[in-house]
Amino acid sequence: MRYIEPHGHMVSRTTDDYQAMVAAGCAAVCEPAFWAGYDRGSVEGFRDYFRQLTEYEPARAAKFLLPHYSWLCLNPKESEDLKLAADVLAMIPEFLGKKNVLGIGEIGLNRNTRNELKVLELHVDLAVRHDQLILVHTPHLEDKKKGTQLIVDLLRSHRGVKPGRVIIDHVEEHTIRQVLDQGYWAGITLYPDSKSSPPRAVDMLEICGRDRIWLNSACDWGVSDPLAVPKTALEMRRRGYDAEFVDQVLYQNPLRFLAQCPRFVLSQPAG
Ligand SMILES: [Zn+2]
Repeated sequence: MRYIEPHGHMVSRTTDDYQAMVAAGCAAVCEPAFWAGYDRGSVEGFRDYFRQLTEYEPARAAKFLLPHYSWLCLNPKESEDLKLAADVLAMIPEFLGKKNVLGIGEIGLNRNTRNELKVLELHVDLAVRHDQLILVHTPHLEDKKKGTQLIVDLLRSHRGVKPGRVIIDHVEEHTIRQVLDQGYWAGITLYPDSKSSPPRAVDMLEICGRDRIWLNSACDWGVSDPLAVPKTALEMRRRGYDAEFVDQVLYQNPLRFLAQCPRFVLSQPAG
């Protein structure tokens, strides 16, 4: 089996995780910029993090022969300090030429505040000006449906945004249609306790079809499972889906979206 992990916060994971992912058939991992668990206090803190995402972590992954790509941004949780946000946004273009950078992400909303919306808009504008792919995080639980609508409305109001170049992540049963019906890609996140489970993810594929959808583990420093994507293949096979179905959802779909960035080239696809 081969698969792509399109959303993993590998700076928080161990080398054992890298080994297990490669053994399970992982052909590439993509790492969106993320909240550290605390607010970074300065532009230099972000600069160091972006260097980690574009220099150190790809080298660590390469020791396990795993291609590593990254996305850059401020996290929605870090949007309340507008001066810091503006300074970080001004610094991001320094890194857009790095060879493992796929685009701007994961941007989005957390509590759906006015400042989060403002910083989201600035990120979208930055992505469009630099012709970058966009990866969007949607809020948790009770804020998700409203937040998803705010995100879709904001993206639609920006004339430069091409929906096929945007993935809106962490969709659930009550938001996946809001995303797919407008032409965006949808990401389903497989978490042990929240977001989606393997059976719920396969239910959504059965209801919505398998186009423009990817699955990810969003593994980070919290309760999460870096092998959640390959484990979902087992749920698909249990329900009678063949290897071609599994390959399309876990490998070909993310490849199709990510290959819109010319840097995303898998030289030795497994399988
Ligand atoms: Zn994430």
